[in-house]
Amino acid sequence: MNLQLQYLINLQKFDLRIFQIQDQLRKAPELLKSAEAPLHDVLTRLQALKNTGESLVKQRRSAERELATQEDQLQKIRNRLSELKTNKEYQAHLFEIELARKKKDSIEENVLETMERVEQNEQAVKELEEQAKEAQQNFDAEKARIETQLATLANELADLEQQQKTLAEMVEKPLLARYNRLKIMRKGYAVAQLRDGACGGCQLQLPPQLVAEVKRGNELMDCSYCHRILYMAHHLEAETTE
Ligand SMILES: [Zn+2]
Repeated sequence: MNLQLQYLINLQKFDLRIFQIQDQLRKAPELLKSAEAPLHDVLTRLQALKNTGESLVKQRRSAERELATQEDQLQKIRNRLSELKTNKEYQAHLFEIELARKKKDSIEENVLETMERVEQNEQAVKELEEQAKEAQQNFDAEKARIETQLATLANELADLEQQQKTLAEMVEKPLLARYNRLKIMRKGYAVAQLRDGACGGCQLQLPPQLVAEVKRGNELMDCSYCHRILYMAHHLEAETTE
């Protein structure tokens, strides 16, 4: 067994896991944002509903003021009864009262209608506040879960980076440089397992002579096509018996 090859196989395992963790850590803000989305949605709807509520209360107050004015008006008209002299004036006065009363009724109806809408809105706000409370609890729990997960990953990463560094120092310098170049070119997969005569990286069939060389394991061999450093299953078996 070529010890250097063994190092590279393990180094690749570390590097892949490091890359995976770094990727997860990078995506963390996105993950938190999407966990917060339902809460954000409820709060936005709640704010809109509260704004509607404020404007309805203003409408109600304005209608109430209008009603008070109209009631005064009606009273003033009624008070003029004593000033009336002729039957004609009296008839006109009755008509005027009738008109003023109708107007007052209509304003009163508007007040009641607005009051009802205010109440309905308050009820809807209450329901949405309950939903917001639940959404907040869900988000808090999810956030705590994500943060615990991230802390675990960060610990694992620190540990892996240390191990990776130690292992990389054991690899011969030119070989490590070759590995690092391939790692960049092949998205982390610089080392590939040779299976049934094919490279596990590019899946192409390799010449039998090359396969035999890899099997002997005296020298580190490249795939003829993708240039990944090749190993075979027995290199892995050696690792597990260590
Ligand atoms: Zn290949």
